[in-house]
Amino acid sequence: MADYDVTVIGGGLIGCASACYLARGGARVALLERGQINQGASGQNAGSLHFQLEYRLIRDIDRYRRELEFYVGMSRHAIMMWEGLDEDLGIDTQTGMHGGLMVAETPEQVEVLKRKLEIEQSQGLEIELLDGDGARRIAPYLAPGILAALHCPKEGHSNPRLLAPAFARRAVDAGARVETHAAVTGVSRSGSGWRVSYENAAASEGVSSITTGAVLNAAGIWAVRVAAMANLHLPLFPVALTMNATEKVDPLVPHLVQHVGRRLSLKQTDDGNLLIGGGWPSRMQQSAGQWTGSAPPELRMDSVVGNLRAGADVVPQVAGLRLLRVWTGTTAITPDELPVLGEVPQAPGFFVAAGGSGFTNGPTYARLMSELILNGSSSHPLDPFSPARFGGLNAFMG
Ligand SMILES: Cc1cc2nc3c(=O)[nH]c(=O)nc-3n(C[C@H](O)[C@H](O)[C@H](O)COP(=O)(O)OP(=O)(O)OC[C@H]3O[C@@H](n4cnc5c(N)ncnc54)[C@H](O)[C@@H]3O)c2cc1C
Repeated sequence: MADYDVTVIGGGLIGCASACYLARGGARVALLERGQINQGASGQNAGSLHFQLEYRLIRDIDRYRRELEFYVGMSRHAIMMWEGLDEDLGIDTQTGMHGGLMVAETPEQVEVLKRKLEIEQSQGLEIELLDGDGARRIAPYLAPGILAALHCPKEGHSNPRLLAPAFARRAVDAGARVETHAAVTGVSRSGSGWRVSYENAAASEGVSSITTGAVLNAAGIWAVRVAAMANLHLPLFPVALTMNATEKVDPLVPHLVQHVGRRLSLKQTDDGNLLIGGGWPSRMQQSAGQWTGSAPPELRMDSVVGNLRAGADVVPQVAGLRLLRVWTGTTAITPDELPVLGEVPQAPGFFVAAGGSGFTNGPTYARLMSELILNGSSSHPLDPFSPARFGGLNAFMG
């Protein structure tokens, strides 16, 4: 018998939450994290809970309509999960779900909001279109130039520093082994299961290995490298992003504010700082001609300026605030910007969960993936997000 039923590689939000739900489901689980829990994107992100389709997802709305419908359906699961997470995890996750507004500044952008709304309402997402005055009635901080907004009353934000560690603790409570400073260096077939080798910085024996029925690759931007250890291709790419935090101000913006045509997400933390982001690039560091995910990406000043300009255009009071802090982080995207969730067809027992707004949807991805691994099916279909859609890449692999 294998040492474990499932070995989860990566201690970000997706890995920790998956380990928790798998262990609660009765599986013998090991989670291996090469550094500290939450050291990757899960601890660096903006903490937005965006259940509406984001700006980046609707650039090709006709081509990916079916996938977007499934994605919105998953948002409904995510809303329910976030509403119950404090109780489930036994901590105050500092989650506020006071609503979100996706704003439009031009008639063309208003038309995109309408097409988006149609998909979202068809999937039962609670959402309404407001004209500019209607939006300013519930959000008086919005600029006069805002022509319309989609209001989703369940959107909000949470504290990224708390979630993954809380899931890791609950995973241990449920019987999982969670090992940090354990860098996976090899994944190979072992009978009908897998052998996972790892280097544990704390142990004197160097490389250790365990056998496992299934592997869940939740290594974020490094998931490509973990897949390569099993002789598999994974089309995931790192993208380096920028975040800005202003000084603290009195309560001003209770909502999550996003833009339908510009890169902008803006919200106020419980402490009073405005967090302004929305996908402005920073620059990946390089080592020996290759990008490295280990060093923080280099800041681009044009991103800071562009991001703050977008913020001030939508919420004019931003222009009078001092910038307190800027940081960069790296996350993973696929060519279609949807997540990769499922088993690689060429490698039975090798599962992947990565990409796609993994803070908002991380707990949901984890729950659905644990159902898939434990039962062979999930309560919300994951087929549109399966690695099988990139099947050609692995036709000669595995
Ligand atoms: C600046 C920024 C802002 C963002 N804002 C939002 C937002 O507002 N809302 C939202 O929904 N999403 C947001 N995201 C995206 C979100 O953060 C990610 O999708 C999510 O955190 C991914 O979680 P993960 O568990 O897959 O990856 P990660 O958190 O990166 O975890 C992967 C883990 O795997 C470990 N690992 C790697 N290789 C190995 C190995 N060989 N052996 C063992 N362990 C290994 C790493 O050390 C890491 O801890 C943002 C991302 C960034 C960077």
